[in-house]
Amino acid sequence: MQIREAHTPSYYAASAHPAPERPALNDHLEADVAIVGGGFTGVASALSLAERGYSVVLLEANRIGWGASGRNGGQVLAGWSGEGELVKQLGPKAEEFLWKTRYLGNEIVEARIQKYDIKCDYVHGAATVAFNNAQIKSLEEEYADCVEHGFGEFMSLVDGPGLRQHAATDAYIGGLIDRRGAHCHPLNLVIGEAGAAERNGVKIFEATRVTKIDHGASPAVHTDNGSVKAKHVILAGNAYHMLEKDKLHGLMLPAKTYVIATEPLGEDLAHELLPDNLAICDSNWVLDYFRLTGDNRLLFGGRCTYSNRDIDDIAGELAPRMRRIFPQLEKTKVDFAWGGVIGIPLNRVPLIGKVSDNVFYAQGYAGHGVNCGHIVGEMFADAIRGKETGVDLFEATRHFRIPAADTIGGPMLALGMTWYRMRDALGI
Ligand SMILES: Cc1cc2nc3c(=O)[nH]c(=O)nc-3n(C[C@H](O)[C@H](O)[C@H](O)COP(=O)(O)OP(=O)(O)OC[C@H]3O[C@@H](n4cnc5c(N)ncnc54)[C@H](O)[C@@H]3O)c2cc1C
Repeated sequence: MQIREAHTPSYYAASAHPAPERPALNDHLEADVAIVGGGFTGVASALSLAERGYSVVLLEANRIGWGASGRNGGQVLAGWSGEGELVKQLGPKAEEFLWKTRYLGNEIVEARIQKYDIKCDYVHGAATVAFNNAQIKSLEEEYADCVEHGFGEFMSLVDGPGLRQHAATDAYIGGLIDRRGAHCHPLNLVIGEAGAAERNGVKIFEATRVTKIDHGASPAVHTDNGSVKAKHVILAGNAYHMLEKDKLHGLMLPAKTYVIATEPLGEDLAHELLPDNLAICDSNWVLDYFRLTGDNRLLFGGRCTYSNRDIDDIAGELAPRMRRIFPQLEKTKVDFAWGGVIGIPLNRVPLIGKVSDNVFYAQGYAGHGVNCGHIVGEMFADAIRGKETGVDLFEATRHFRIPAADTIGGPMLALGMTWYRMRDALGI
């Protein structure tokens, strides 16, 4: 029997729009494209392909949005993780690609919300904030770069008192506000897009874990009770799949990261804390981020654990961090606390490419998956249509592989993160 894990108990699951429980696959099907995984990467690819007229079957091991896509901070940020490394390795062509796609994910999401009438509490406005002068300097450089590339009108640099107009805290010494950044209810976004994909002809099966991919002129994906033979396969299982180990194992270590949501604050307190409803993330390597939800809770995320170690008391760890930023929440209750696995490649550059000629994969966007999952969906749909996209660029990137990642990988990454925490503490 195939088991379908329910959504993790989170604020998102508690406020999700109703979505049908799709059947498991018990058949042998054929399609132009078979997709493994029903998060943003899988669902956005499915919708982009269906809009271009391809027949698509999407197989999800649990439920649509069960993975990181239905659990994340909901921040729809600009750009990619690992941009500096990508440019260091590949030079001007990477730089050109990054500027061209800086807000592409946001644009795709906004167009879909509009076209398919998806209700997901989408609100414009994000800010990156700084604790120290080194972080301010890097925000100043980012601002100057944005101005140079024609994005200056959306951005503003603010000092400590200036930032206080947007976030009622003395924790930071300044920040960079990005009016094209946004935040949303990610589970409702992916649920809405899956519905739109189905209306465009995509067949979705849940409780259906892909166990094997056959390569060749007509690749096929296999499950316990069925298969899909296709012209192309997209592997979009992110940190949760164990497929194609020869090519993909040890490149990305699954880190767990955590989120809490308070009780509703009421309009007055919510407006006092974040008057123009910005989504905020700090500039630390191991960062904290927060925003208001549609019903005026503070949703606050942070902390990472490795080696499959879980935090026993998520609220006990995160609430004090939240109250250091907003002492106004001293007496506010935490209603929800949850975690999720986030794929982080060791050099932070997302892993995007081909396992073989017609089998694509994408994973490891770190904290940029809401926007980047959507960009990748377009990239794959274009690549399948034979258009040039950024897939080659990412494939050309050198990644580190940790041998015996299951045993020594976790402790090594934990050591690496201790170094990054030290850098955060020292402001270097
Ligand atoms: C707590 C947390 C906070 C985050 N905050 C943000 C944020 O604020 N902004 C942002 O942009 N990004 C954020 N991220 C990252 C972002 O959520 C991810 O990068 C993004 O959701 C990845 O989407 P995906 O579709 O590639 O993978 P996922 O959403 O993880 O989906 C993968 C899916 O594949 C399925 N699957 C796996 N193996 C198989 C198989 N063999 N067969 C069938 N199905 C399979 C899984 O069940 C899962 O549903 C956060 C992540 C976490 C965990």
